[in-house]
Amino acid sequence: MSRPAQAVIDIAALCSNVQQVRRWAPQQKIIAVIKADAYGHGAVRVAQAIENLVEAFAVSCLEEALKLRAMGIQLPIVLLEGFFQAEELPLIAQHHLHSVIHTHTQVEQLLKISPPLPIPLWLKIDTGMHRLGFAPTEVEEIFHRLKRHLPTQTPLRLLSHLASADDPQSQQTLLQTQGLLNLVDTLQVESSLANSAGILGWPQTHRQWVRPGIMLYGVSPLANNLGSTAGLQPVMELQSALISVKRYRRGETIGYSATWECPEEMPVGVVAIGYADGYPRHAPAGTPVLVNGKRVPLIGRVSMDMVTVDLRTQPEAKVGDVVVLWGKQLPIEEIASSAGTIPYELLCHICPRVRRIEKIET
Ligand SMILES: *Cc1c(COP(=O)(O)O)cnc(C)c1O
Repeated sequence: MSRPAQAVIDIAALCSNVQQVRRWAPQQKIIAVIKADAYGHGAVRVAQAIENLVEAFAVSCLEEALKLRAMGIQLPIVLLEGFFQAEELPLIAQHHLHSVIHTHTQVEQLLKISPPLPIPLWLKIDTGMHRLGFAPTEVEEIFHRLKRHLPTQTPLRLLSHLASADDPQSQQTLLQTQGLLNLVDTLQVESSLANSAGILGWPQTHRQWVRPGIMLYGVSPLANNLGSTAGLQPVMELQSALISVKRYRRGETIGYSATWECPEEMPVGVVAIGYADGYPRHAPAGTPVLVNGKRVPLIGRVSMDMVTVDLRTQPEAKVGDVVVLWGKQLPIEEIASSAGTIPYELLCHICPRVRRIEKIET
């Protein structure tokens, strides 16, 4: 063991969060979203831990799916952006992946293939997010063209994505839900709409399949809310250690651009974590950090490999002491808000040089 920066992954918490998804959406099938290396938690590890607890996985691209297949994951895997080139289609079929279809280009590429490949499809509908998907008015025709083409047993379902489900006041979620329901009524197919925020806040969005991402990792998708409020447990604890503790005199400054000045003689600790590990560079002085389980404020700028902390309330702290940047005792929601970002970004930005280890149950 060298540099002490590590992300400790709590598999028991992950499994408990899946049970919470079931509690919120008891009738639904669960597509666990593990794109972006399971939001930084390690997609293979997460998939292996919960493959018996969910009905499918979702990732962003073929490469992410093939890594899971190579490690023996056998559940259906949905490619959320579908295929980027027609050459991917044989591999998608061979590995039993599901594909989202969101553009006319993809439709034409699929229809060209003869004999047709038995790839389960999710037709993506733009109900208001205005990012990917077909306008509701064009869906019926595309649906029937694809249906005629696909082998008879191959599922063709509808999928749409919510833009504002994290805001309980927003009217957009109801409009989007209605938009999807109109199509589902006409076409009589299964559909999927709810992300984590939909699962927690909008039961009418649940449909047959739900797509939890962030809540699996114990984090709230709702603004100004903690995962624990919804019965979720943080899965990642980002840890490091003090690698230096020194005292400075009143008026001395700490770190780049001398942005922090000691108001009195005081102990300052250096922690081995920085923006090259994924700790947010924009975390301002005052952002909390746990030293030996106690909150102390960050001071000065976040550097590439280090941050500095005010140890006045922890005068006994010494080199080697454990530091927690976020985790059960220090909600990532709070750190994200302090740094002007969202927990999703913090989780995805954890770099490969941060060791991931699994928590050993004690
Ligand atoms: C990422 C993603 C999700 C999961 O969203 P969360 O907010 O993390 O629950 C669901 N559906 C699609 C299409 C996504 O891209």
